[in-house]
Amino acid sequence: VLSTVAHAEWVHRQADIMGTRVSVSLWHTDQARGEALAAQVMQEMKRIDNTYSPYRETSELSRLNREAAKPQAVNKPIAIDAEMTRLLDKSLFYGRLTDGAFDITFASVGRYYDYRAGKAPSDSQAQQLAEAIDYRHVVLDKTEQSVYYQHPAVYIDLGGIAKGYAVDRAIELLENDGVQHASVSAGGDSRVLGDRRGRPWMVGIKKPRGGEGVAITLPLTDTAISTSGDYERYFINEDGDWVHHIINPQTGKSTAELASVTIIGPRGFDTDALSTSVFVLGADEGLALINRLSGFDAVIITRKGKVHYSDGLAAGEQ
Ligand code: ADP
Ligand code: MG
Ligand code: MG
Repeated sequence: VLSTVAHAEWVHRQADIMGTRVSVSLWHTDQARGEALAAQVMQEMKRIDNTYSPYRETSELSRLNREAAKPQAVNKPIAIDAEMTRLLDKSLFYGRLTDGAFDITFASVGRYYDYRAGKAPSDSQAQQLAEAIDYRHVVLDKTEQSVYYQHPAVYIDLGGIAKGYAVDRAIELLENDGVQHASVSAGGDSRVLGDRRGRPWMVGIKKPRGGEGVAITLPLTDTAISTSGDYERYFINEDGDWVHHIINPQTGKSTAELASVTIIGPRGFDTDALSTSVFVLGADEGLALINRLSGFDAVIITRKGKVHYSDGLAAGEQ
């Protein structure tokens, strides 16, 4: 009897892309179409990785890092496409909003960390390159769609914002095809579309460092959520310090106060940038920033295990 009706089904897919685990769950009235869409999402994630990875020599980001830092780029800025313009514009916006806590030029020093090999830049190297860290060195002309770097040692990395952007792109792709229930995550950055057919999506915030399982579970619909943690990429140095991948642009070193920051808001583009920002700002300044913005909430776990909630969550409005 059902043979003439398309078979409605949940589709779940996972793949390793962007140095992390990408997961897609979606509900579609036509399972074959749902599977095709899940494959398209993975394709889009791969495209974003190929375009914005600093680790791929052939990426557009690597081209920028090679060309835009050359002194002659000042007179002849490097042409970029609309998407790169948007990513840089958003990144620089968060640079200004956070007074440089979020700073894509952190990588001028940050590029010399090798977390797998347990290597950090030497103090003299870090000192020498410190002046290259300043998002204001990145001169973007939005109308012309061009960019140059004002300092020859500037090197940018979009790792603090690109995965959030990618989950937005994935959700838009699904939404444009009429999907009403979906969840897409790329490591710590997730976005859910609609609900899970009558129930909210349950998104867990992992226990910070050392802990197994989930610290807090949040019921969510139609929202993005990003978690930054000091356990994602790290090593322990000879002094016993925990060295991780979120860098304080003022010091060129990883931050020490927080263990994890989760931001909830409408779009992954913003929640991703804000999770990294608040991680650098610390609990007090970070909470003040999130409470000042409308539409965002935060759960902050300090290294000592204290949990802070933004006003919206503390008041039970979520
Ligand atoms: P995850 O990589 O787990 O999604 P984040 O969203 O916090 O975690 O991103 C961490 C990444 O952000 C780092 O790997 C690095 O590429 C980039 N990053 C580190 N420090 C900064 C900073 N101060 N400003 C902007 N980006 C940063
Ligand atoms: Mg982030
Ligand atoms: Mg992220």
